[in-house]
Amino acid sequence: MLHKGIGLVAHDQKKIELVEWIKPHYDFFKEFPLYATGTTGKIILESYPDLNLTRLKSGPLGGDQQLGSLICTGELGLLIFFTDPLTPMPHDVDVKALIRLSTLYNIPMACNQGTADLLMKGLSHIYSQKG
Ligand code: PGA
Repeated sequence: MLHKGIGLVAHDQKKIELVEWIKPHYDFFKEFPLYATGTTGKIILESYPDLNLTRLKSGPLGGDQQLGSLICTGELGLLIFFTDPLTPMPHDVDVKALIRLSTLYNIPMACNQGTADLLMKGLSHIYSQKG
């Protein structure tokens, strides 16, 4: 994953959580090309305008499918996707498809903050060994 991009998505009730979660990991994220669904990308850039972040379509308009496409073409190596399990969504099938492709292509994927924290710990370990 080390030379690939990172996908960032948060459902509406989780967007603030994602923006705050990025803060302690900012130095890590600024080293990678980032791809986010439209609204998630917008609020991330409002807080961190210097990140190298490409905004895709909003999730309900196809953004999740665009992330899936980037996984298929080998451009994404990690997916941070803070999902909201309590709100029905019109694009539920797209969310499911994105999770399916992450699984299929063996992309490390965090759907909540606890898993994202563990992923970051693992990645810091890898990076500290690379010097
Ligand atoms: P959004 O899309 O970042 O445009 O809100 C995320 C989603 O709902 O999948």
